[in-house]
Amino acid sequence: MSSAIPAVDYGDFRNQIPTADRLGRRIWIYPRKPAGRFYRWRTWVSWLLLGIFAAGPFIRIDGVPLLLFDIPERKFALFGQIFWPQDLYIFALLLLTIFVMIVLFTAVFGRIWCGWACPQTIFMEMVFRKIEHAIEGDGPRQRAFDASPWTPQKIAKKTLKHGIFLLVSWVAANWLSTYFVGLDDWWAFISGTPFQQPGALIALILFTLLFYGIFARFREQACTFICPYGRLQSVLLDNDSLIVAYDHRRGEARGRFSKGQTREQRREAGIGDCIDCGLCVDVCPTGIDIRNGLQMECVHCTACIDACDSVMDRLRFPRGLIRYASQRNIAEGRPFRPNARMALYTILLLALTGVLAGILITRDNVETQILRAPGSMFQEMPGGEIGNLFLVKVVNKTPREIPVDLRIESPPDARLTLAGGALVAPREGLAQSAAVISAPRGRFIDGNLPIEIGVYENGERVRVRKTNLVGPATP
Ligand code: SF4
Ligand code: SF4
Repeated sequence: MSSAIPAVDYGDFRNQIPTADRLGRRIWIYPRKPAGRFYRWRTWVSWLLLGIFAAGPFIRIDGVPLLLFDIPERKFALFGQIFWPQDLYIFALLLLTIFVMIVLFTAVFGRIWCGWACPQTIFMEMVFRKIEHAIEGDGPRQRAFDASPWTPQKIAKKTLKHGIFLLVSWVAANWLSTYFVGLDDWWAFISGTPFQQPGALIALILFTLLFYGIFARFREQACTFICPYGRLQSVLLDNDSLIVAYDHRRGEARGRFSKGQTREQRREAGIGDCIDCGLCVDVCPTGIDIRNGLQMECVHCTACIDACDSVMDRLRFPRGLIRYASQRNIAEGRPFRPNARMALYTILLLALTGVLAGILITRDNVETQILRAPGSMFQEMPGGEIGNLFLVKVVNKTPREIPVDLRIESPPDARLTLAGGALVAPREGLAQSAAVISAPRGRFIDGNLPIEIGVYENGERVRVRKTNLVGPATP
C-alpha cells in the first residue's frame, strides 16, 4: 500500500513538507548522526545549558531563587529579585524588551536560537537522539531496523529505548516543576507519599507524557507546526540576515564527482562544487534540502554545514559551500553590513533596556503605602491638635524580616502614632497597621496641611512619602 503513495518531490518543496506524503501521512525522518566542528560546539553549548537548567533551582541570590514562576502563590523571582502582582508592569516591560531582543537577534542572526539554545532542539538532538543512536544505530540502520520484522531482540531494544525516553521525560518534568513551585515544595512532594498531593502527581504525569510524546513521536513537527517563531521567520528575516545557506553561485550546476576530477575541470565543464551526494539532506533532522534555499522548516542546526564541509574536505575543495551567510552575501559577494531595520531595532532595544534598568535600580524592595482611612475625616485631639487616621501597608519583597518605622519629617511639630508600635514586615509578606497623624490646628491653611513621612528600615531612612492632613477650613 505504502509503495503506491507518491513520496516527497523535492522539486515541489514549496507546496509540501518533507515529513508528510501527498495523502498527509507522516514520513518518519531518520537523520544521519552529524559530525564536525559545529556539532562539537553545539554539544558543548548544550551541555552548558543543560547544566544551567539542572543547577538553576539550587542557585540562590541573597536567599532568593535565580528563577521562580510560582503561579499559585503569584510570586516570581528573576535573578534574585522577587516580583509580586503589583510589579506586573515590570513584567510587561520585560516581555516587550525580550520580544524586541528576539526580533533584533533574528534579523541579524536568523534562527540561531533554534539551532543552539532552544530546549526543544537541545533535548531532541542532544539527549533523545543520542539515546536513540546509542540503542538503534545511525539513521540508515534505524530505517532498516524499523522495517525489519518483530523479533525478541527488536522488542527488547524498543522497550529499552522507550523506557529510557519515559524516564528522561519524568526527570525533565520533575526538574522543570521546581522552577514553578520551588525546590523545597518539590522535595516535600517527592519525599512524601505520591497520593498526598494528587493534583501535583497528575500534573507531573501529564507533563511526562507530553515530553515523551514530543520527543518520541512528534519531534520536528513541533518546530514546523506549533512553534510560532518558525512561522514568523518570513517577516523577521531579510536578505541581510545571517542564515544557514547554500552558496548556489558556487555549487551550481550540480554534478556527480568523477574520480581524479579537479575543481578547474568541473568549472570548464560548467559544473559547480556540489557533487549532489545528498549528505546534507541525509543529516537534516527536518528532512529538507537546504539547496532549495531558505525554508520554514530549517531550524539552523548546522548539521548540513558539517556534512558538506566533510565532503569538501574529502575532495580538497574549500569548505563553506553551505555556511552561515546572508542571502545578499551569497548573491552579491558582499560582507555582512547592518541595515536600517537592524539599526532601528537596536535603538528601540537600548531605549527599552535603559527604562527597564532604571525601574529595577530604583525599585523598592519594601513598598510602603500610607493612605487615609476610607470615609474618615479629621478629629479634634486632646490638647487641641487635629488628627487624621491613616492605614499603613508594608509589602516586603525580600526573604528577610524587616523592621519598618515611620517618622514625621515635616512639619516638625506634627506627630505620628502607629497602632501597636513599630511594624515588622515578615519575609516575602505583608504587614498592616493604622496610624494617627496629628498637627497643631494653627498649621492648617484652607483645611489642608502637607506632611512628609520618612520610612526607616533598620534605622535607616530609605524613602520619604508625602501626603496631606485635612482639618477645619478656618483655624
Ligand atoms: S553535502 Fe554538499 S556536495 Fe553534497 S549534496 Fe549537499 S551541498 Fe552538495
Ligand atoms: S537545512 Fe541544515 S541547518 Fe536547516 S535544519 Fe536541515 S540540517 Fe539543520
